[in-house]
Amino acid sequence: MTRATCVALDASDELAELRAEFTLDENEIYLDGNSLGPVSTAVRARVNAVLDDEWARGLVRGWGAGWMAEPTRIGDRIAPLIGARHGEVVVADTLTLLLAKLVGGALDLRPDRHVVLTDVANFHSDLYIIEEVCARAGRPITVRAIDRDRLDDELNDDVALVELTHVDFRTGEMLDLKGITKKVHDVGALMLWDFAHSAGAVPLDVTDAQVDFAAGCGYKYLNGGPGAPAFMYVHPQWQGTLRNPLPGWLGHARPFDFELTYEPAAGMQAFVTSTPSIIALAALDGALDVFERTTMDQIRSKSLALTDLFIELVDDRLPGVFKLVTPHDHGRRASHVALAHPEGYGIVRALIARGVVGDFRAPDICRFGFAPLYLRYVDVFDAVQRIVDVMTSESYRDPQFAVRSAVT
Ligand SMILES: *Cc1c(COP(=O)(O)O)cnc(C)c1O
Repeated sequence: MTRATCVALDASDELAELRAEFTLDENEIYLDGNSLGPVSTAVRARVNAVLDDEWARGLVRGWGAGWMAEPTRIGDRIAPLIGARHGEVVVADTLTLLLAKLVGGALDLRPDRHVVLTDVANFHSDLYIIEEVCARAGRPITVRAIDRDRLDDELNDDVALVELTHVDFRTGEMLDLKGITKKVHDVGALMLWDFAHSAGAVPLDVTDAQVDFAAGCGYKYLNGGPGAPAFMYVHPQWQGTLRNPLPGWLGHARPFDFELTYEPAAGMQAFVTSTPSIIALAALDGALDVFERTTMDQIRSKSLALTDLFIELVDDRLPGVFKLVTPHDHGRRASHVALAHPEGYGIVRALIARGVVGDFRAPDICRFGFAPLYLRYVDVFDAVQRIVDVMTSESYRDPQFAVRSAVT
């Protein structure tokens, strides 16, 4: 594989023209879109329209002119990316809070059961919020954070809910959405999926997999901006039954009747608690435009081609240097690649200094995200060249790269 071959692959890439929508530094290779996606032209346009027209001119009239419906309207735009239908997705809060709503609500649907299962390798925020919501459930609930490979042994008729992150944030391993959901249903439990590292990166079909609940981030592969609102999905079977455990006036059937008793609005609106953050929603709305110019299948095939290329080049040019933590098997690989190395922290810092932005995940993982909307094959080639430079020069040993910053 030569650089010229990569240039040729870019020339025939059907997604190539989408890169021009994003603001990217041409001297830098951005492999961290799995943590924070870049800004696009449509985001700027949409945010500016809110600032200059809707807010500046409309002022408070904006609420009557469409702002109230933004959480469900934008939810409907995300729905096709996860295989959901109209009216099944809403955008609100951030992911941890939406997980709290879904876990709290789900426990009510299985009142005779006492166990919630999750993954010991899960993202820490998921574990914190699940633990706390279950502790306040009003009945004894045991949360078991298990080795997910032992799920079969842990499933039984006392399990109310299983919460798993579909793509492991460290390793990039993708779980079997449909197979696991089915196993969970077979014991009468409910399934909640965290799509933080899946939405916008891999094709998802919540309808086909019969998923009960799901939630994901707006700021990772969806490129909705730092702290963008998150989205949540509820299967139609549970709509109208699933209670929002954090109710607020915006989820009321008649918010402007100022009634003293909460009565949930119909549909996904019931999961909105507070006044929606309209500027943040506008950024997310703009970010979704680019997804209408492609399909998740096109994104997926380029994603696999990019990660294959990266793995092959690293293997070829730095044999035995890193341990590949991400599965080789396409069926189990999402859109980021994790390379373990004892000097991982210094390596990531040295790479950032050389214009390859990835990130470090303790204890030893160098994580590289491959977002097909704006990355080129040649970026992968050049990134690996810079990794080779850092490893052969041992520049990662420079003391300036050893001091841990608060954000990695
Ligand atoms: C990024 C991420 C989150 C982040 O949650 P926020 O509440 O939006 O900050 C949660 N769970 C997983 C698995 C993540 O990767």
